[in-house]
Amino acid sequence: MVKERARILVVGGGYVGMYTALRLQEKLKQELGRGEAEITVVTPEPYMTYQPFLPEAAAGAVSPRHVVVPLRRVLPHCRVVVGEVTAVDHAKRTATLTTLATQEEGTGPQQLAYDEIVLAPGSVSRTLPIPGLADYAIGFKTVEEAIGLRNHVIEQMDIASSTRDPAIRDAALTFVFVGGGYAGVEALGELEDMARYTTRYYHNVKPEDMKWILVEASDRILPEVGEDMGRYTVSELRRRNIDVRLGTRLDSCADRIAVLSDGARFPTRTVVWTAGVKPHPLLAATDLPRDERGRLKCTPELAVEGVTHAWAAGDAAAVPDVTAAEPGKETAPNAQHAVRQAKLLGDNIVRSLRGEPLQPYSHKYVGSVASLGLHKGVAHVYGRKIKGYPAWFMHRAYHLSRVPTFNRKARVLAEWTLAGLFKREIVSLGSLEHPRAEFELAAGGKPSDEPSDDPKGSS
Ligand SMILES: Cc1cc2nc3c(=O)[nH]c(=O)nc-3n(C[C@H](O)[C@H](O)[C@H](O)COP(=O)(O)OP(=O)(O)OC[C@H]3O[C@@H](n4cnc5c(N)ncnc54)[C@H](O)[C@@H]3O)c2cc1C
Repeated sequence: MVKERARILVVGGGYVGMYTALRLQEKLKQELGRGEAEITVVTPEPYMTYQPFLPEAAAGAVSPRHVVVPLRRVLPHCRVVVGEVTAVDHAKRTATLTTLATQEEGTGPQQLAYDEIVLAPGSVSRTLPIPGLADYAIGFKTVEEAIGLRNHVIEQMDIASSTRDPAIRDAALTFVFVGGGYAGVEALGELEDMARYTTRYYHNVKPEDMKWILVEASDRILPEVGEDMGRYTVSELRRRNIDVRLGTRLDSCADRIAVLSDGARFPTRTVVWTAGVKPHPLLAATDLPRDERGRLKCTPELAVEGVTHAWAAGDAAAVPDVTAAEPGKETAPNAQHAVRQAKLLGDNIVRSLRGEPLQPYSHKYVGSVASLGLHKGVAHVYGRKIKGYPAWFMHRAYHLSRVPTFNRKARVLAEWTLAGLFKREIVSLGSLEHPRAEFELAAGGKPSDEPSDDPKGSS
């Protein structure tokens, strides 16, 4: 039994944050009901994003609302606070928090006291000081970015279709993706597939008019599915006329010209940056120990090393991989580990509150599945290499079984079923991002949110 009222603070509402809170809620139901424990989840968005569905959301195969899980609905016994933790003073057991309300009131950040803290802010895009990158590129980690990119790609096709200037047309139809991991390859595969399909509704844009370019600094892509399947993915993408450039870096995208390290230059209005992630910068604003890459150093039990009452998992944590053949290895930053770690983390916090021994995290990575567009995929699971339609089907079946809540599973399945019966959705609702523009114009003002042609702010 938990003796005193335990205040558990969960920082982050992603995979680790949501699944840890769910587990705690389930295990501490009685204590929560009697007020003997409380769980607070702080998250910048009131939803968890199922990131593996972002490429399908960008392609229009899954609607944006079904890629996210509303935290207030799945965590009815937790206090969900929409805000950001900006610092943690673990010695004093306090977190500094800004919320929409504190910003509105102008009162400055709040201090939140806790007894146990779970740090799960995940990772952020790892960028480099490349000229033009901050001004023109877009990442692919959030549902807003995925939908913004979909709208942007379709808008570029509209621009290409209506301009008389060949230079504008060429730049509009050139799409550069930097980084050949999951996010980059799946996003490119799905968007190219969607755009190729969409050309049938344009009288003057043909699939061969578009240039899709994948730039990868190392000599392989999709390391998650192994070397052979990575090679297959390169040949599959090239067969689709996608220009895959291995051993190549983006040197600049200033003035909307992508300049590559092999000397190639592509005028373009679309640069998607998916060249890896780094631990969330919040971790540097804590007094907790970090490794050389900036992740929190954890024990196999998912406790932060050298302190008590602090826990971490997922992309933000360096967790020893006890299943690895060589010592010193850590679990990779992926959803497979994040979900499993979160469940154990919830259990271990309860064990610690009850004075019971903790269990170590042990899971052997079983492999990966990736989608490369409708009916195309690649997988390497339990040592078996699968490609084409079976891999794509496996990808869908796996993620359908994994997407949280029965409600989301049913909605996604319904969407896929309907998509099989009807034609693909090709609409771009970019104007949703500027809902006041038309009224401002009608009211005689100048639209403050004027659409721009870069994928970050627009369309
Ligand atoms: C496009 C894409 C596709 C992917 N596909 C796969 C796949 O197919 N298979 C796979 O295994 N993995 C995949 N991954 C990786 C996987 O999604 C991550 O490894 C996983 O999300 C990590 O979980 P996490 O809880 O550590 O971080 P996240 O799920 O990113 O959660 C972090 C949470 O912390 C919140 N947060 C951030 N800052 C603060 C703050 N200051 N205060 C409070 N909260 C904060 C964030 O808003 C977010 O809710 C994919 C990733 C991407 C981007």
